[in-house]
Amino acid sequence: MDQRPKVVVIGSLNMDLVVKAVRAPKRGETVLGEEIHFVPGGKGANQAIGLARLGAETTMIGAVGSDAFGEELKKALQADGVSTSSIKVLDSQATGVASILLAEGDNSIVVVPGANAQCLPEDLDQYEGIISEADLVLLQLEIPLKTVEYAIKLARRHGTLVMLNPAPAQSLSQDLLRQVDYLTPNRSELALLTEMSEESAIDQGIQGLFEVGVSCCVTTLGAEGVAFKESGGSLVSISGHMVPVVDTTGAGDAFNAGLAYALAQRKSIREAAEFAVKVSALAVTKFGAQGGMPSLAEVEAYFQ
Ligand code: ADP
Repeated sequence: MDQRPKVVVIGSLNMDLVVKAVRAPKRGETVLGEEIHFVPGGKGANQAIGLARLGAETTMIGAVGSDAFGEELKKALQADGVSTSSIKVLDSQATGVASILLAEGDNSIVVVPGANAQCLPEDLDQYEGIISEADLVLLQLEIPLKTVEYAIKLARRHGTLVMLNPAPAQSLSQDLLRQVDYLTPNRSELALLTEMSEESAIDQGIQGLFEVGVSCCVTTLGAEGVAFKESGGSLVSISGHMVPVVDTTGAGDAFNAGLAYALAQRKSIREAAEFAVKVSALAVTKFGAQGGMPSLAEVEAYFQ
């Protein structure tokens, strides 16, 4: 396919407030922090930026508040060429925020979904045309599940490929799972979906998903790479690339962007997974989820 693949991402936009302190406060206590960073995030926005940097014609559907964070998140998407006119701006809700405290080598996170919780099924009807013309719809689980379900229904009605990154981990109905073309859990998400230990989930667990009707499961394994299996096929593993690691935040988002980009071009699952492993390896060599997303030229230059 010479044309740019068209991908619609329906998902979350968050501002990450990253605070560094020497130690975490005890209950009722105040401590002085050392640094604060405002980092655009949200799995949906991260994956949309990853796709656009690779060259996909990317549309983001989601919701923000009519506040400074919402404006900044939209600008970050626009700077990479993501179409943001289908992002709803709400007066009644604040933009989603993830408050991340880094202290004593640990992190504690409070996520306030805010406007993301108002990304509703009925918002999608006006974008049915965009969904029908897309090569692939990419979803995560940081917006209401009923919206994810409705998006899948719309995509299937028009024969658009459906890829679901089931993150953050939660259990999903069989009815939803059987309508997904590509399911992309990490190890712990797969364990939760299959109700098995992380060790047995990869083989036996995936088998259970196929019995439910999933057609292809691609499990990311951190630095080890990825293992994928198509219904009726055998498990195929692709090793991760050895790279100088700077920050693994958003590795999964980069992987999903890479996989969606290649699948939207109708590449085989093996080719797509190999490409996504490269994209995500390069992403962990840079700081930040959105900051680390590589361009296609960078991927090609690094792995030539
Ligand atoms: P998540 O970020 O969702 O937990 P993973 O940790 O499984 O997802 O990472 C997603 C992908 O990113 C992996 O399949 C791998 O290709 C790549 N990756 C993650 N960590 C590393 C690493 N340390 N070195 C190289 N590649 C990595």
